[in-house]
Amino acid sequence: MKYTLMRQLTEADVTITVEIDEETDHYSSEIFGYDKELQDAFQAMIDEHGLWGWCSVCVTASWRGQAASAHLGACSYENEEAFRADGYFEDMRTEAIAELNAVVRDWFAEVDEARSELSLTAEEAASRRALYKELRWKNPIWCPHCKADLRDHKNGVPFKRSIAVYSREQDRTTHWKCPDCEATWDRNGV
Ligand SMILES: [Zn+2]
Repeated sequence: MKYTLMRQLTEADVTITVEIDEETDHYSSEIFGYDKELQDAFQAMIDEHGLWGWCSVCVTASWRGQAASAHLGACSYENEEAFRADGYFEDMRTEAIAELNAVVRDWFAEVDEARSELSLTAEEAASRRALYKELRWKNPIWCPHCKADLRDHKNGVPFKRSIAVYSREQDRTTHWKCPDCEATWDRNGV
């Protein structure tokens, strides 16, 4: 099976999460050069808003256990809400979703490969089908008299609730008895 005709995941399909981390580059010099006013502004943001005041932001799009992220360093926001209202968030969300689509395509390719590795040969499939048939509840699965369900759902296939009526004389089960209405039927099922 090939998944070449997949549609793309959109914003409606995915979960978007925002996480922040410490920005390793300090705002004082590496990025902005020396600018007293700017540095004071950043320091004020840090004082007031903590980590959000100076951080790197990671926007992650996830879908069914698969995820992809977009990162942006040197950020300064009041909080997540303020970041989500910013244009950068929209760009990063778009980027994360595009990346997630690539991840999901690769994932399906891997699943395809795994599926072909685990596929049974025709012969194996035939013997597997025969085994399933063997394990089926044999008829009658309903009491021929009161129509009660005779399948033993507690113990599962192939166990049934029907009670064997054993003939010592003939040394075999001659009849089956319904546990509910106690009616009997002969061992061939009628
Ligand atoms: Zn019955």
